[in-house]
Amino acid sequence: MSIESRQARMDAVLEAEGLDALIVTDLVNVRYLCGYVGSNGVLVITSTGRVLLTDSRYATDARERTRGVDVVIAGRDLMDRLDEVVGTGRVGFEAEQVSVARRDRFAAHLTGVELVPTAGLVEGLRVVKEPEEIAAIREAARIADTAYTRLIAEGFGGRTEAEVAWALEGWMRDAGAEGASFDIIVASGVHGALPHAVPRGVAVAPDTLVVVDMGALVDGYASDCTRTFATGPLPAALDEAYRVCLEAQRAALAACGPGVHTGDLDAAARGIISGAGLGEKFGHGLGHGVGLDIHERPWLRQQGGEVLETGMVVTIEPGIYLEGVGGVRIEDQAVITDDGCEVLTCITTDLITTSA
Ligand code: ZN
Ligand code: ZN
Repeated sequence: MSIESRQARMDAVLEAEGLDALIVTDLVNVRYLCGYVGSNGVLVITSTGRVLLTDSRYATDARERTRGVDVVIAGRDLMDRLDEVVGTGRVGFEAEQVSVARRDRFAAHLTGVELVPTAGLVEGLRVVKEPEEIAAIREAARIADTAYTRLIAEGFGGRTEAEVAWALEGWMRDAGAEGASFDIIVASGVHGALPHAVPRGVAVAPDTLVVVDMGALVDGYASDCTRTFATGPLPAALDEAYRVCLEAQRAALAACGPGVHTGDLDAAARGIISGAGLGEKFGHGLGHGVGLDIHERPWLRQQGGEVLETGMVVTIEPGIYLEGVGGVRIEDQAVITDDGCEVLTCITTDLITTSA
């Protein structure tokens, strides 16, 4: 990974922001900027270099794994060595991530410092992916595809929703994933009307729709893919909902490319669902960026003020949720290319009927 180039770009951000130093506490940002993967690390960037503060549990791993930083071992709360590495002047901290209590601890341990709240500085670098990052996401998407292929071949097999979720995670691990990229959703029948349903200990229902939303984790990078399956002949309302959702999803994918406003892309899908009289049943945004975090910039939503760029990785995932009946969501993950987008999740989105 191009950690050195990320560090150089981050130095330029500090200069542009007029900061003498930045205290990076978000562990995903710390990982992105120096490769540290432990649970207790703070990266301090100054005009003279970078220091990773961690505790003795991570000393060996941090020294082996990180690049372009001096590793300093501090006490468990990492505050005792903070003053000596931060220096003085305007010192930024990640305001959206730091608690009020932690900010107060910074202030108590630092002298000659003006603490400056910042937001999204590292996230702004993360939004356009490097080729190595796209390769990891592509592999994560491929692994999830293999689990979907096996699910389609085997059917739900009389399993409960929770058992299906656990089987899918196992298949992804067997195929080389570090794990699932988030808690897998398996929601059948009326439960499918809950966009973030938690799998239940009840058997997958026949003659309805089943929403399955999952992704794999590879080198810390996430994939994210939803497919909705039929378990037999469908009630007319669900049949119609699937058809409309798929039309909306395909329209958004066709419109997806560099220079496109995320709000316009959301509107491309939402217009089709609204045109079918189901606009109120699509309550969430069209999609989101994916990388080291499962949900990150850019946000594809109605008020989306972002413009897509080549190298961004996004999901396109309209859904229609009919309370008391069931639901459908169809989600692909795609990388923005110079002339459109390339879908990384390759399982068909045509409606597949499999056994409950
Ligand atoms: Zn998803
Ligand atoms: Zn998603």
